[in-house]
This record gives sequence, C-alpha cells and structure tokens, in this order.
Amino acid sequence: MSAVPYLYKAQIKKPQRQQALVSVIIPFLNEEDVLIACHRRVCRALDALGQQCEIIYVDDGSTDNSWHIVKNFNHPLHQVQCLRLSRNFGKEAATSAGLKASTARCAILLDADLQDPPEYIKDMVKAWKDGAQVVEMQRKKRHGENALKRLSAHLFYKLMSKMSDHPITENVGDFRLLDQKVVDVINALPERTRFMKGLLAWPGFKRVILQFDRDPRLAGTTKWNYPKLIHLALEGITSFSTTPLRWATIAGILTSLSAFVMALIILTKTLIWGDPVTGYPSTMLIILFLGGIQLLSIGVLGEYIGRLFIESKQRPLYILMEETFNQPTFARQEIEYAP
Ligand code: UDP
Ligand code: MG
Repeated sequence: MSAVPYLYKAQIKKPQRQQALVSVIIPFLNEEDVLIACHRRVCRALDALGQQCEIIYVDDGSTDNSWHIVKNFNHPLHQVQCLRLSRNFGKEAATSAGLKASTARCAILLDADLQDPPEYIKDMVKAWKDGAQVVEMQRKKRHGENALKRLSAHLFYKLMSKMSDHPITENVGDFRLLDQKVVDVINALPERTRFMKGLLAWPGFKRVILQFDRDPRLAGTTKWNYPKLIHLALEGITSFSTTPLRWATIAGILTSLSAFVMALIILTKTLIWGDPVTGYPSTMLIILFLGGIQLLSIGVLGEYIGRLFIESKQRPLYILMEETFNQPTFARQEIEYAP
C-alpha cells in the first residue's frame, strides 16, 4: 500500500466537539461595575441565537475586582473562557489575545462597558449568515462623547483615509463581526504594533455596514485620555502609511525651491539696483522655518525607526498569566444570569 493515502488520512482533523457558532470577545480593564450587567446582556443576546456559542473575557491587567467577577461566570449552554494578562498591555493586545483563543465560526468584538449594545448581535449574525464575512457596526450617534472628541475622531478618520491605501470606514470602532477566515488572517499577522482598526480593515473580504446608536457607558470612566488617543493616532498612521515620509520629502523640495527663487530675487536686486542685503527679521524667520521643517522631518523619521525598533525585538504581544475555561453547565437548575 502506498504511503499517500495513509498520510492523507493522518492530515484529516476530526473536530473534538461541535464548533460554537459565535465567539464574543470582551477585553476589559477595571470594569467591576459593569461586568455582571454585561454578562447578563451578552448571554441573553446569545440565547436568542439558539445555538452554542462561546464568550471570551480578556482581563487586560485590571487592578480592581474584575478578574474575580468574570472567572466564575458560566452558562448552561455557552462556554465561558477567561484570559488574564500579566499586566495592562492595551486594548489592542487584549483583543488579539481574544482572537487567538476564538474557536467559533465567527467572532464578535464587544466593549465591556455596554456602549456597543449586545442586542445587535442577532442582526450581525443574520448579515453574516446572508453572506457577509465582515460586519462593521457604524455609529449613528455617539452618546456620552463631547464635541471635541467627536471632532478629533472625525479629523482622524479623514486623515487616515487620505493617507492609508486601505481606508478604514468612518465611525466604525472595534464592534464588528469577523468570519473565522478573517480571524485566521488577523491571527497570522506578525506585527507587534497592533492598530486594530487598520488591521481589521486590511484583509478585505466581503463587508457589510450596519448602523447603530452607541449608548453612553453604563458605569465607570473611559480608559482613554487625549495623550493616549494621540499615541494611538500616531501609531495608526505610522503603521499603515508611509505618506508622512513622502510629505517630509515634498516639504524639503518646496523649501529648497523657494530658497532658490529667493536667492535669484536677492541677487537681481543687488546687481541691478545695488540694494544692500537687509532684513534681520526675515532671515530669522527663514532660519526658524527651515529648522522647524527639519526637526519635523527628523521626528517623522524617528517615529518609523521607533516602530522598526519595537518590531525587531520580536517580543510577545501579551503574556497570559491565568486562564479559566468554564464548560456549559447543562444540568444547573438555577440560571444565574436570569434577572
Ligand atoms: N480596555 C482595555 N484595555 C485598556 C483600555 C480599555 O481592555 O487598556 C477596554 C475597556 O475596559 C472597555 C473597552 O476596552 O471594555 C473600551 O474602552 P473605553 O470604554 O475606556 O473606551 P471608549 O469607549 O471611551 O473609547
Ligand atoms: Mg467605552
């Protein structure tokens, strides 16, 4: 007998258990006030699907009681997996940990603070069953966000779509559904700089956009402040586009050209009219202008070199400290999450 059929047989993977329909991935940091309500609403939304699902909580280094709350969550039908990272690695890394752990046919990313209402899961799964491989949830209204945050978000999306080859849809956050195929692609991406909005847009696939009203946070406060948001914006731009480098080159060309034109004007004035070279203020202005452009260009270069430095270290994206895996509790008489 040839070895080929034997090898072929050995490569067939038999599923260990029935594959879950949806993985709901919930990264959180210090969300003790909302986790119980979150679990309750997510379970209700998954129950409405009528099939086995899994919920993956990722504790991104919480220092409050959050881990002790989630690690005991369970459900009669759905599996509940809880991952605890060894410190705060940032939402992007926590989301990546959840995607790596996901085993279902599709994954949904959800914030723990219930700003992304779990009740939309049904519509998302319907769109996926109708053929979409990515279902992006676009915010119609951004309740609980001030005008400055809305304006800065709008400017960021505009800038990103100008610069990047793979434009990200405006007002679509992490709340979205990804088919298992897309999840596999994202999991295989090797980079350490995880600008999730960009990474999730990069693979393409069949996309559908659904609109929803974003609720205000249920309790607690946002984990983002302006320095963090500026860092995220810089990370997004430098990890997805080399346009700033091109702009630095163009700025260099334009200033050299204008210096050349100015030199011609000064030379002509001096030779024809015998004007002495004057103008201390204008000289200072030009020196400062050129200095500014040079420093800016060095800064832009530095941002890219910094990213290269971080990537070259090849450190893991996150470190898993603890993990619980709560199998469905079919036999339970009392369903704990019931109101
Ligand atoms: N989050 C996280 N790690 C962080 C920051 C935030 O896992 O370093 C979680 C947070 O607990 C929440 C979600 O990411 O579940 C969204 O964060 P937040 O509500 O603070 O952001 P916003 O909605 O204000 O943009
Ligand atoms: Mg929030």
